Order: sequence, then structure tokens, then C-alpha cells
Amino acid sequence: MAIMDLDPGLIEDLNKRLAGHGVRPTAQRLRIASLLLGRPQHLSAEQVLAGLRNQGLRVSKATIYNTLNLFAASGLIRQLSVGSDRCWFDSNTDAHYHFHDVDSGALTDVCLRDVEFQRLPEPPPGMRVDGIDLIIRLRRKEA
Ligand SMILES: [Zn+2]
Repeated sequence: MAIMDLDPGLIEDLNKRLAGHGVRPTAQRLRIASLLLGRPQHLSAEQVLAGLRNQGLRVSKATIYNTLNLFAASGLIRQLSVGSDRCWFDSNTDAHYHFHDVDSGALTDVCLRDVEFQRLPEPPPGMRVDGIDLIIRLRRKEA
């Protein structure tokens, strides 16, 4: 998979980011990283696959899933489970919450400072809270 058509500065930047997370930067991984990590966004594996195919690249679904799972495990991206049907990959790994438009499926970031929890249960003995996910489901108001 050629990466010659990507901007050299971008390739160098992605190389560093992957290596910084302990991911060996292969051409295929750089290609997937360039699609996902360029800006804050939420993409499904299917959307990443479609994006690569739009660029005229032939990549198997299994490769996409393996690469995205590797990226998520290394902390390069964040994996989000929204509803039962689909898994999303978030290029923004800073702590934040989400709006989820139930009709369109679109996810939008919500800042931590816009949310306040009044009370949380004590974690069970011997456990600590490692993180909190919040997905605020949205539906258009009836006209
Ligand atoms: Zn997000």
C-alpha cells in the first residue's frame, strides 16, 4: 500500500504518534491513521473501510478491525460502544462525554465542564472508579 501521495510532514507526524504509543508504523497503519487521526471525529470501522476504498485502496475488513483494535488498545484512539449495533472509534482521547443523535447516529463531543454529577455510588470494596462514560441520547422534538 503506497503512502507516497500523503504529505511527508503528515507521515512524519503520524509515524511519531504511532511509535509513541508502541505501534509499529506500517504503511497500512499509517494510511488508516491518516484517515482517522487528522481531526477530532468519530468513525465506525465501516466508515474507515469506505474511506480507504474511496482512496482506491484495497483493504480487508479484518485488517481494518485488527488495526482499529490495536490503535484502541495502545491508547491512540478511544473505542466507544453506543447502542447495541455499532462500535465507534474516537480520535479524541481526552476525557469527554457524548451526545448521540439516535436518528442519524451522529456523535458529538460534550466537555467535562458542561456536566456535573451530584452523587455517585461508592465503588465496591477494593475497587476504584477508573472512568465514567456518559452518552446523552438525542431525538428531534416533535414539530
Ligand atoms: Zn468523542
